[in-house]
Amino acid sequence: MHEMGIAEQLVRIALDAIPEDMENPRVEVLNLRIGKLASVVEHSLTFCLEIVTKDTPLENVKLVIEDVPVKIRCLACKKEWEVDTPMFKCPDCEDTEVKMLSGREIEISSMELAD
Ligand SMILES: [Zn+2]
Repeated sequence: MHEMGIAEQLVRIALDAIPEDMENPRVEVLNLRIGKLASVVEHSLTFCLEIVTKDTPLENVKLVIEDVPVKIRCLACKKEWEVDTPMFKCPDCEDTEVKMLSGREIEISSMELAD
């Protein structure tokens, strides 16, 4: 279950982002951006986060997950499009020299600290 590693990494990043001089910090909301091709199972990640946040300022944090679509750009004609499954051929000029712009990210977009 690779979600455990992801959860541990996210918690480390979140803890680093908490201001050092804050007393008894508590993170209420964690906003995540997860690409559709990141192969993260949401309920597994939620489950793992519950375990790794125990006894940390992130205990009982609310997760808000934004699905990031897979975005592709054709290098020949610069067309950009979104796909649900990896489809690496330009629908306009049929060139296969394409670049994936998004779809694999697993990142914290923001978090909300309790006052
Ligand atoms: Zn093209």
